[in-house]
Parts: sequence; C-alpha cells; structure tokens
Amino acid sequence: MVKETGYYDTLGVKPSATSDEIKRAYRKLALKFHPDKNPSEGERFKLISQAYEVLSDPKKRDLYDQGGEQAIKEGGLSGGNFSSPMDIFDMFFGGGGRMNRERRGKNVVHQLSISLEDLYNGATRKLALQKNVICDKCKGLGGKKGAVEKCPTCKGRGVQVLVQQIAPGMVQQIQTVCPDCKGQGERINPKDRCTTCNGNKVVREKKIIEIHIDKGMKDGQKIIFHGEGDQEPDLEPGDVIIVLDQKDHPVFQRRGNDLIMKMKIQLTEALCGFKKTIDTLDDRVLVITSKAGEVIKHGDVKCIINEGMPIYKSPLEKGSLIIQFLDISLKSSRPGVQKCD
Ligand SMILES: [Zn+2]
Ligand SMILES: [Zn+2]
Repeated sequence: MVKETGYYDTLGVKPSATSDEIKRAYRKLALKFHPDKNPSEGERFKLISQAYEVLSDPKKRDLYDQGGEQAIKEGGLSGGNFSSPMDIFDMFFGGGGRMNRERRGKNVVHQLSISLEDLYNGATRKLALQKNVICDKCKGLGGKKGAVEKCPTCKGRGVQVLVQQIAPGMVQQIQTVCPDCKGQGERINPKDRCTTCNGNKVVREKKIIEIHIDKGMKDGQKIIFHGEGDQEPDLEPGDVIIVLDQKDHPVFQRRGNDLIMKMKIQLTEALCGFKKTIDTLDDRVLVITSKAGEVIKHGDVKCIINEGMPIYKSPLEKGSLIIQFLDISLKSSRPGVQKCD
C-alpha cells in the first residue's frame, strides 16, 4: 500500500507500475505537453516532470510510497529543488544538457506512431517537418552585405537601461531587452533588408525526412537525425529526434524479443486435442495442434521458438512466441506463470 497516489495519477499509472511503464508514461505525456507543442500547458509539463523525477528514482519512489509528498519535501526535493523540466526532458530524450544547448540550436522531438507489424517487418515512413533554414538569398545576413548596422537605440548592447525615480533621491535601474532590435544589438535598414527573409536571416521551409524502421526496433526507441533541427546563424543546428510509439496489437503483446498471446480453448478441446491457426505478423499461418493424449489445462503455456520478434540488428534471429491457454469455461481463474524452455 502506498500513502498517496498523486504522482502516479499525474503519470496515469498504477502504484504497482514497473519502471518501464513509468518511463513509457512519462515519454508520452512529456511529448504531448512539451511547451513547444502545447505552450499553455507549462504547469502540467512541470508536474509531469516532477512526478517522473520522483518515481524514476527507486530511493525517492520508496520515500514517496511510504511518506507521500510530505516525505519528499522533507527529503529536500521541495519546490525549487526539483530539476528543471527541460533538463529532465533533455536527459530523457538525449538532448545533451545545458552546456550543449548554448552552442547548439534546440533539438526537436517527434513521436511516430507505429504498428507491431512494422516493427516486425521493418518499414519506411516519411515525415514532413517545418524548419528554419538559413536564407539562401542573403546567406543569413538579413540584408545586403554591410547593411547590418549597430542598433542606434541600444548602441549594440541589445539591452536598454531605464533609470526610474521611485522616490525622491532614489532611483532604480531597469534593464530590458531592446525593443528595436529584440536584443540582437544590430539592425538592418528597412530599405536594405533581404526581401526573401524580410531581414530574419532564416526562412521557414518544409522538409521531408525518411525514417527507416529496422526489424526488431522497440517502442520508445529513438532515431536521430543529426543537425536537422532549426538553423540559426552562428549556431550549430540541433537534432531531430524521432521516438517510436508502438500501438497496441489486438493479438500479440511484446515482451523484450518475445511475443505473448492468449488462446481460448473449450473444455472438450482441452481434453481431446485440437488444431488451431495463428496469423503471424508477416502474414504466414502457423498451425498449432495438441498431440493426442496430451491434455492442455487452463493456464498452460506453449512456447514456439523463433516465432517471436526479430532481434534488432540481427533480424535472422527471433525471440519466442508464448501462447497462454485460457479455458473459456473457467472464466474466473487466472493463467499461470509463463516460462519457456
Ligand atoms: Zn537595440
Ligand atoms: Zn534573406
């Protein structure tokens, strides 16, 4: 029994969730509520991140299970002590952290919904992205060569300092981003501005990327397109990261390289033997028979080697197909533990 379920509820998982289930829940929610995609859900994004920070750490999770949010606070993770949601996100999706962020443009993460069949057989998907690219006409200068001049408003500093008298003899200095150059410290005379990018140095472009899904790839696996993020002058572009999101399959469940399925049998079939078929993920038909005299009981498990998922990067090898037999005349009992020999 856990004391509170708040963090579990935030991630939409049960308190009994495995660490994989917690990761998967975080992955889906963080992508959905990331400020890039959902600017109005910043608070929600923060809460998802905090719940994940606690539940993904066995020690913190233990503390939370026993003492709830109070125990987490007393343990030093109150308000400001949580990691920044962006750092958690970058760490999870491989963004390279803050140091990298300063010299490089932002990484962009997209989720790609994919079927178990595609992960079994391999597939190619095309994804259309909108991205900023350096303007070809002005080569990222924003205007004619030499048209860029120091911003006269802020004298090139990018900030404006306003001195405000707040009481007689008492002044306050307020620094604001220069409104004329938006902090760039330079401007381009409107008549010299590049007409293609309107002085923005970059233009929005549609780019199609081709995503190769190799046999045996997994739910949550990342495919990285290096340097395909938004381009900015003087900055190395970030990456486009595609995260695979496997749709549930009506028949098979995947566990590692194995596939698990349930097969319903009638009492008479259990006693007298049967012949059933299974449609595989690559459209073959497997025939499953029980031998004469072999009594299949509810909860029995049959294991067919080499009929599971192809192994990533070694797709000629496959995991096992595990069939759990369910006697439909015994609705209330649960299947036994699967094992494979
Ligand atoms: Zn300025
Ligand atoms: Zn231009």
